[in-house]
Amino acid sequence: MNDVDHTTPIVVADPDGSRDNEVRPFQIEGMDVRGRAIRLGTVVDQILKAHNYPDPVARVLGEVLTLTGLLGSIMKFDGIVTIQTKSSGPVPMMVADYERREDGVGRLRGYADIDETKLSAYGKNPSFEGMIGSKSGYLALTIDQGEDMDRYQGIVELKGASVAEVARNYFMNSEQTPTEIRLLCDRDSVSGHWRAGGIMVQHLARGEEGQERILTRETEEQWNRASVLMHSVKEEELLDPQLDLDQLLYRLYNEDGVRAFDADRLVHACRCSRERLQTVLIQFEDDELQDMVRDGKIDVNCQFCNTTYYFTPDDVASAKA
Ligand SMILES: [Zn+2]
Repeated sequence: MNDVDHTTPIVVADPDGSRDNEVRPFQIEGMDVRGRAIRLGTVVDQILKAHNYPDPVARVLGEVLTLTGLLGSIMKFDGIVTIQTKSSGPVPMMVADYERREDGVGRLRGYADIDETKLSAYGKNPSFEGMIGSKSGYLALTIDQGEDMDRYQGIVELKGASVAEVARNYFMNSEQTPTEIRLLCDRDSVSGHWRAGGIMVQHLARGEEGQERILTRETEEQWNRASVLMHSVKEEELLDPQLDLDQLLYRLYNEDGVRAFDADRLVHACRCSRERLQTVLIQFEDDELQDMVRDGKIDVNCQFCNTTYYFTPDDVASAKA
């Protein structure tokens, strides 16, 4: 754990031997099916607790973070994967991102914008569709490989009963890859800490890339079997701290044989810093800066980690000079 440069301090360290906060890629023997399983403990707990969102919103953001961890870990290079939702509902925006650096560790962070007044109209347990407002919303996936590289962006309508259903539609529409996915985030019934888990399977194209996918009878049966078994995973199994991902995969696929590959580690870390925010501040005109001063200082909040940085007008003036 100590070799990772955490930008934000870690409040609660993972217990020794913890198998939380990892993504495990796997392959089912004899099938053109690959998959990934993810489990988040302290990482999702820290991100969600920094904000204190109402539980229904925290659950959905937790699922977006879980999806971001899964998709980020597929990336074969250093870069940033961002998932953003926009809608006209009581939760107009959610953002989660995953950054991988040379150390191979995935850094997750995320936040949600909430319109409290609108949200209160939906009662204590608003549905996913209620929160994101099913009319004209979308989910965007962006992959950024750094300054000199092209940016990839894919978009899907925010239609469906869950984040997982939206993600499934994304893979069908944008990538023509049959995908089944489960995502879950909830509080541990004993400790009250947030936990999240997910699993996805994808049917690999056997033909050349770009070629129309033809599912033969045999491979279609295999794919159906792989997805039915994946959907047989119970909610408590996705989150159970006592059941590590290897055991979970074995439970689901031991009859066929499952090969699990090295896990990718995940941490909670934000990219904000005092220097970065100062760079933003010095771009404002003096009179604009003057308007921002409250009680002799300017405070700037990072939406991702909810850290507030304080600057005096003198700090900004000397940085400008
Ligand atoms: Zn931050």
